[in-house]
Amino acid sequence: MSEETIFSKIIRREIPADILYQDDLVTAFRDIQPQAPTHILIIPNHLIPTANDIKASDEKALGRMMSVAAKLAEEAGIAEDGYRLIMNCNKHGGQEVYHIHMHLVGGQPLGPILTRQS
Ligand code: AMP
Repeated sequence: MSEETIFSKIIRREIPADILYQDDLVTAFRDIQPQAPTHILIIPNHLIPTANDIKASDEKALGRMMSVAAKLAEEAGIAEDGYRLIMNCNKHGGQEVYHIHMHLVGGQPLGPILTRQS
């Protein structure tokens, strides 16, 4: 049994968050430390700790995360100019919260996706 994170409390509305969308499968809310004018997190309502834990049975929720990202990008007015969808995994990926989440980031040019670490 994986340990819940703060994101489970956001899903259950036990702690405050700026929730933009919620349905039976996913929840989307504004990142508390935005890295760009638009920075939204889209998460499955059930706990999947990392991308390594994604199973075929999660495909419906993962697909919903993608379609909700597209809808929210459109609503934020950043669809035409473009944006970035990011999912970090584990230590090397820089994952901090162990409940998978897709970052929807945009509203300005984002630069190269990666800079090589020496
Ligand atoms: P990651 O490094 O991919 O695990 O990203 C975790 C993200 O969660 C960071 O961008 C944090 O700013 C964000 N975050 C952490 N706690 C909260 C919270 N209570 N509400 C909204 N965003 C949060």
